[in-house]
Amino acid sequence: MHPEQILDYLLSQDQEQMQQLIKQAGQVRDAQRGRQIYLRGLIEISNQCSYDCLYCGIRNSHHHLTRYRLDRDTIIQLALFIWQQGYHSICLQSGQIDDPDWLAELVDIVAQIKIQTRQLDPEGRGLGITLSLGELSPAQYQEFFDAGAHRYLLRIESSNPDLFASIHPPHQSYDQRIECLYQLKSIGYQVGTGIMIGLPGQNAHHLLQDLDFFKQLDVDMLGMGPYIPHPDAPLYRSHKPVYLDPYLSTLKMLALCRITMPDINMVASTALQSMHPQGLQRGLEAGANVVMPVLTPDDVREQYNLYTGKKNSSGEKLLAAIRALGYEPGLYTWGDAPHYHKRLQHR
Ligand code: SAM
Repeated sequence: MHPEQILDYLLSQDQEQMQQLIKQAGQVRDAQRGRQIYLRGLIEISNQCSYDCLYCGIRNSHHHLTRYRLDRDTIIQLALFIWQQGYHSICLQSGQIDDPDWLAELVDIVAQIKIQTRQLDPEGRGLGITLSLGELSPAQYQEFFDAGAHRYLLRIESSNPDLFASIHPPHQSYDQRIECLYQLKSIGYQVGTGIMIGLPGQNAHHLLQDLDFFKQLDVDMLGMGPYIPHPDAPLYRSHKPVYLDPYLSTLKMLALCRITMPDINMVASTALQSMHPQGLQRGLEAGANVVMPVLTPDDVREQYNLYTGKKNSSGEKLLAAIRALGYEPGLYTWGDAPHYHKRLQHR
């Protein structure tokens, strides 16, 4: 699709045109990927965070938040439970970790999950493990990969350096994040990135730039969601204008990314589901093919409070909703993006 045409869709207020775009994206997903929606059991292993992103409810400076860290047994037992439920892929997520001992323990936890679930798997593959643990050193990324993690999610948040700088403190650098993404690729991870949509000061040109960035990075996975303000985070009090409707612009971006990158995996994000009662349905219609049920233990779930009104849909509810919408939950499979395998062949 020509950049002018993409911009036209992003700027348009025409409902009819938007419906057409979403319909086309759904058709591309159905033709290229079918109606299977892959599941990633999300375990939010800790809300401790050494970073201070200006938008985030678990940022380091949010002192009223009760902090937690799941222990080794809890994480491993949960992973085994998730396997038994038929979700053969998990995602371990946390705030930014600066404790080397805990990181070393997490590497061991990943290795243990792999060993134990491989023993339960007639094909010997075990659980697919995605990590979303923020910016680590190349050596740390490598250790996790060697332990058996094979996908990594690290959102760029905005690919525009000025916009990125406006939502992060000065010591969190754009260049560092880009470097991490390329390191992850060179190690051999399936790499996912993404953005928040509807940020103060963000406009359609920024989103066009993001789409171009995703293509240049040659991503395997995308996680995009609306920005949802958190009253205890500084961006809540931003005086910059909000140009984009976070919900509708997220749907448009999903559709545009599906049409232009048919073979990647794309999530109907928790933020999209939290923002609108039809977020799941509309996200899938717009071409998403991954959903991440929140399987964090009940007693700490509320403390992983990234934004106001975060919806923690249980696995069962999500499965039922996916089926009711006419899709098939992709159980007993990793559900990798074909893009990754094609990318490897062309290396
Ligand atoms: N620490 C890891 C990282 O930075 O990649 C993973 C955890 S981080 C909290 C996960 C994602 O939550 C971020 O990439 C960001 O896009 C999203 N997020 C945080 N605050 C948000 C908000 N107020 N609205 C929407 N999404 C938000």
